[in-house]
Amino acid sequence: MPRSQVVLASISILTLILLGISSIYESQSAGERTQLLSNAETPAASIIFTQRETLVYSTQLALWSNGGTTRREVQIARALLAQRLAVIDSSGLSMGSRAHSGYWKALEASDQVVSSAPPGILPESMHEKLNITLIPIIDEIVAQARNLVVSYQRSVDREMKMLAEDTAQRDAFNLSLLYIFIISGGLFLFLNTRTNLRNFRRARDEIYGERIALESARQEVAKLQDLDAAKNALISNVNHELRTPLTSIIGYIELLQRDNPENHSREHRLHLEVLQRNSLILLNLVESLLSLSKFDGAVGELPQLHVSLRDVIEDSLFALRPAFEKADIKPIFLSTNDFYVRGDRAQLDQVLINVIANSIKFGSSNSSVTIELLSRKNIEGRDFAVITIKDEGIGIAKEEIPQIFQRFYRGENLPKDRYEGTGLGLAIVKQVIDHHGGFIEVDSEIGKGATFALWIPIVEEGKEVG
Ligand code: ADP
Repeated sequence: MPRSQVVLASISILTLILLGISSIYESQSAGERTQLLSNAETPAASIIFTQRETLVYSTQLALWSNGGTTRREVQIARALLAQRLAVIDSSGLSMGSRAHSGYWKALEASDQVVSSAPPGILPESMHEKLNITLIPIIDEIVAQARNLVVSYQRSVDREMKMLAEDTAQRDAFNLSLLYIFIISGGLFLFLNTRTNLRNFRRARDEIYGERIALESARQEVAKLQDLDAAKNALISNVNHELRTPLTSIIGYIELLQRDNPENHSREHRLHLEVLQRNSLILLNLVESLLSLSKFDGAVGELPQLHVSLRDVIEDSLFALRPAFEKADIKPIFLSTNDFYVRGDRAQLDQVLINVIANSIKFGSSNSSVTIELLSRKNIEGRDFAVITIKDEGIGIAKEEIPQIFQRFYRGENLPKDRYEGTGLGLAIVKQVIDHHGGFIEVDSEIGKGATFALWIPIVEEGKEVG
């Protein structure tokens, strides 16, 4: 994700968290506000009652001074007012404590006047005198009571104003958080959607491009397969055409060799031998190429026959007996069990002949070649038959081993005139073993002989061999 989008997303998340915290705080302070309002309401009720009791008292005083009521009534009204002034409200203050000192002085003055007068209704003779004394006191009590109401009203107003300001501030803060959230979140969503759309388009174009490339590669492969098939058909036709005259040439050379050999000069015999050797090499090459093109064309078409590996080894040893004798090499075959593999008998014969023929060709005279047949499990737990062919010949350099299965590869430092060959034998071996689901291991060092291990999957274990 681009850096700008990360920043925007972080801002959105941060403001959302702040909004959450602020709303928790808000709900707490809403409770406090309600409390404050109720605190303001309760004393408001108290002050109204105080005001009323003051007025009642003042009225009683005025009535009394004019002989309209008894002193007792005045004292009752005064007691009610005193009670009201002593009431403590939710802010912890009594109504009396909020009153100005002038209020108390006026009340005390009225108390003195009332207590010094006789009980009951005032005699008319005292009306005028008391009226003159009481009127300023009553005025003072009423005025002070009004002051009490006004000053209290002001303090309640102040609190309410502070409350409103506090709420407005918090609302403004929350609103700005909300704006930040909406702007950053919206911007993030916009940029992110745009990036995603771009990525989507790019991926779609890439997939489209890859599809086109794949299609052209597929066409290329099909073309190559056609070419390969045509090549194999050509090689196979040409080789067929070559094999017939070659076999005939070899036959005639043998005839010439056998025809009165005692009359042949040494040179003549030598020429015939060279002719024979080269025609045989040519025949070998033709046959190898034919085999390869046959296998190339038959990929995936393995006959479902069970082939006895013991039979394959014994037949190859039989076919190569003259070669063993000529090279003065002793074949040793070791096996206790037979193993059956699924595959093509002729192809497997050719594999064994090629590997054993190499061990004779590259072996040293008066030595032996040991062929062993046994079974082993590979890493994936499958059962494999393993045929090892071990010779005591010239060996192969370690770094050369991976190359010996390439077509036409021949040992780099091999004296070619001494070791004839085409470089196709092991290529055929590898192709057939791959085709049979197996693999090959080679263990060798220069001058220390070579061991070829051919691993082929077993389909069934055969009879024990005594
Ligand atoms: P060719 O035998 O016709 O040269 P191959 O494909 O059979 O071709 O073998 C390729 C090369 O592998 C040989 O030229 C040789 O260098 C090496 N090679 C194969 N088998 C052996 C062996 N048993 N001992 C030493 N070298 C070998």
